[in-house]
Amino acid sequence: MSTIGLREFHPFEAAGRRYLYLVPSAAVFALDDCSEAMLKELGAGPRATSDLTRALAARFEAAEVSDTLAELERVRVVMRGDARGKPKGLPPPEKIIPLRPVPLQTLVVNVTNQCNLACTYCYEYGEDKIVDTTNGQQPKFMTEATARESVEFALRESRENKHAHITFFGGETLMNFPVLKSTIAYARQRAAEVGKEIDFSLTTNATLLRPDVIEFLAAERVGVTISIDGPEELQDKFRVFNNGAGSYAVAAPKIKALLERHRTRPVGARVTLTKQTLDVSRIYRHLTDELGFWEVGFAPVTTAPGRDYAISDGGFDHLLGQFRALAADYLAASLENRHHGFSNVRETLQEIHQGHAKAYPCGAGIGLMGVSTDGRVALCHRFAGSDDHGFGTVRDGVSWDRQQAFLDSHHINNKTDCQTCWARPICAGGCYHEANTRYGSTNQPNLHYCEWIRGWTHTCLEIYGELAERNPEFLRQFDDEPQMNTDKGHLPSERMS
Ligand code: SF4
Ligand code: SF4
Repeated sequence: MSTIGLREFHPFEAAGRRYLYLVPSAAVFALDDCSEAMLKELGAGPRATSDLTRALAARFEAAEVSDTLAELERVRVVMRGDARGKPKGLPPPEKIIPLRPVPLQTLVVNVTNQCNLACTYCYEYGEDKIVDTTNGQQPKFMTEATARESVEFALRESRENKHAHITFFGGETLMNFPVLKSTIAYARQRAAEVGKEIDFSLTTNATLLRPDVIEFLAAERVGVTISIDGPEELQDKFRVFNNGAGSYAVAAPKIKALLERHRTRPVGARVTLTKQTLDVSRIYRHLTDELGFWEVGFAPVTTAPGRDYAISDGGFDHLLGQFRALAADYLAASLENRHHGFSNVRETLQEIHQGHAKAYPCGAGIGLMGVSTDGRVALCHRFAGSDDHGFGTVRDGVSWDRQQAFLDSHHINNKTDCQTCWARPICAGGCYHEANTRYGSTNQPNLHYCEWIRGWTHTCLEIYGELAERNPEFLRQFDDEPQMNTDKGHLPSERMS
């Protein structure tokens, strides 16, 4: 006798309907009355098929029960087991490692490790730095020659892809504007010669935006993300110059000038949240309504526990409430096809819509790598210059053996704690840099924010269900949008900081 039992899913409700998020396939499944009743019956434990059919016979035709059962089996919500309910014939979860190098989608080029600000929480200069860029051997600025080698590397490693993407990063990126400018010209010329498309983006603190820089960024269609933490008193808590003076008064007018002129690509803001700066709605309103940003993404500060800006457990609960309130605004706007710039929701909806079941939290070491000022290639921009997390150099290329060893040891199947977590298709253990800072190893899952990740993913599933029911056309925008391959593993929205 065979039995029927439940597989792994996460239930949620939206627009008066019951849905399941199917963990093995990362798909969203809407329940009808019969499937809902069947799952309720199975909630008490595996049942013989005949018992199950009998239990539902009073409410549903036998044919409907049989069709529903077949459908639930097909989408892997239920599975057959032996007489004691033990699953039969379920393959162990596969650990699929790419057999040959994956095309590089994004190369993050750290054109300088210097910064004109001295933000207390900075992972490059603060208490939790991995590479000592102040006293170490690395050059402070990338030379034009290394930048050109980086371009060649990006074009070469993009392999069969028609498209390559370079993101300039720092330190403060604009402290090496001359190299950035000449590199873009060189890259455009070389991409044309090898028959590829290339585009560019950068992250900046905005304090060095001059009129000629703004003109260049707009004319060259460079995507810009501004690191800013909100209105003046919040920005100036941590984002300060070396002398301790706040940076808001310098940055704000320059941001306004950039937003006025740079209309070829939307300019986004990237906010680092700390224990002292958790007022998400207020920050969002300021950045969109008063400064004019198109999109705002938030990420909790990466830090070892115990720093006075580290967000405590209670702080994460508070943050989740704040995120949920802003997400409700996003939903209201989206139901009316109005733009809303809370990018954390948009990015998670995209992942849900595209059915991402991640084996790795982000593209680091796969489609994304970071280059240090001396041309060493590492996991991502946050590890640039770290030999422990390096794969090679832009000059000599990267070692596929090292990359494969990394992929093998960091696969989600190795993270025992994550194996029973329903949010793993979206989270996959979280940011390697955060794990390294918290636990001293990139292999560790970020167990300190699991409740937060699960709470936030649940909220995004509810929003997805509401949109699927009430404005399905809205979700079409995610059909073809390419998967962002930057840094979203940390949180469902984290971007480069
Ligand atoms: S780190 Fe936590 S939330 Fe993320 S997949 Fe693992 S157990 Fe789930
Ligand atoms: S999520 Fe973390 S490891 Fe991944 S790219 Fe971002 S900073 Fe690097």
